[in-house]
Amino acid sequence: MSKILDGKTVSASVKEAVRTQVKELSKDGISVGLAVILVGGNPASKIYVANKKKACEETGIKAFEYTLDENVSQSELLSLIETLNAKKEVNGILCQLPLPPHIDERAVIAAISPEKDVDAFNVSNVGKIVIGNYDFLPCTPAGIIEILDYYGIEVEGKNCVVIGRSNIVGKPMALLLMHRNGTVTICHSKTENLASVTSGADILVSAVGKAGFVTADMVKPGAVVIDVGMNRAEGKLCGDVCFDEVSKIAGYITPVPGGVGPMTVSVLLKNTVTAAKRQNGR
Ligand code: NAP
Repeated sequence: MSKILDGKTVSASVKEAVRTQVKELSKDGISVGLAVILVGGNPASKIYVANKKKACEETGIKAFEYTLDENVSQSELLSLIETLNAKKEVNGILCQLPLPPHIDERAVIAAISPEKDVDAFNVSNVGKIVIGNYDFLPCTPAGIIEILDYYGIEVEGKNCVVIGRSNIVGKPMALLLMHRNGTVTICHSKTENLASVTSGADILVSAVGKAGFVTADMVKPGAVVIDVGMNRAEGKLCGDVCFDEVSKIAGYITPVPGGVGPMTVSVLLKNTVTAAKRQNGR
């Protein structure tokens, strides 16, 4: 039976460190603020935004919430971002994705000042990550690295396979594993003989978004299995990995819920503190 990689525990330790740093900064008169923009009423996005706001409150970060109508124009949204870029009390800006189809996500991400881009989606921050000289790391992949570190799982020299090549999870995940000296393979929907690739992985990360996608025959016995997927099956939240069968052969596994998900929020808070420090010359 696998050892469970408990994201709630790791997330709590990251939040504790954030809380301490926010307190230290406040002694010097520096407050830490995060602006969260929600456009429209996507139910999943509403839950994510509420969770982020709650986590801010728990750690002493001031949350500025902006809820915009589904039909808001792109120029109105860009103008709000411009205002927030200039607002001193706001150290980080997050615009919850996905956005309605009439809004160009890339233009919105590009409008966020790189110094306040705590999601690290802006091309200038992505470029910094590629060359390994960054201020912020994207929250979900960085959260996975925090989990590996917490449990003392070494990446160097390991065969790492990432399923998924999105800009927010798969690609940056592969980069971070490469920065840790893993030997990285990226798989996607056009990959042939997927199981033959994944079954060679010492560390397997699945970021596909399909329930029941990773089965036991795709996993090397003793492997570390990281399940990024957040899917609904029969009304219940689940990952990409068939937990019951894979947990019998993997060495380590993240559950869903309670694995990667909580880490995404805690790294966001960590990035917001980093932004506040940088903006105050720390
Ligand atoms: P995405 O943009 O839809 O990307 C999915 C990736 O999976 C794509 O690269 C796609 O390949 C690949 N894929 C689809 N079918 C495949 C197949 N049959 N074989 C191999 N690869 C296949 O999704 P995302 O934004 O990266 O998110 C992935 C999952 O993670 C979702 O469930 C999302 O909800 C979850 N997520 C969780 C967190 C968290 O905090 N836990 C954060 C972000 C995302 P192509 O590129 O070829 O299309």
